Amino acid sequence: MSEFLHLGLREKFISAARKSNILARECKNCKSIMLETTIYCPKCQGDKFNLVEYMGIGKVNTFTIHTVPPEGFDDVESYAWVVFTLDEVPLRVSGFLPGIKFPSELPIGSKVQVIGFDERHGLLLHKL
Ligand SMILES: [Zn+2]
Repeated sequence: MSEFLHLGLREKFISAARKSNILARECKNCKSIMLETTIYCPKCQGDKFNLVEYMGIGKVNTFTIHTVPPEGFDDVESYAWVVFTLDEVPLRVSGFLPGIKFPSELPIGSKVQVIGFDERHGLLLHKL
């Protein structure tokens, strides 16, 4: 795969995130769903995919709270790095949720939604 094609995919992923969607790949061979960053299908090693967009809404599986904001988020006091599973497909995605200080603010199973993409830090989330 050329660098250029890969860059194109990243841009598509980012523009999907800005529409609150997750761009995923579906293996043409075994129909497994994975993130667009995967090069070979983890199940069958296939390398032919369809691109599919799913709603970027899901339930929190796990998270870690960070009290030192990452570079570029100086207005954020603390944030959670969240792993969540999409509602539409069993795909695990991770992202950045500003404004979370204590675990009690984000019970496991809370609903989160993708609201954008930060070039340095990845998916931006908010709590529904
Ligand atoms: Zn496959």
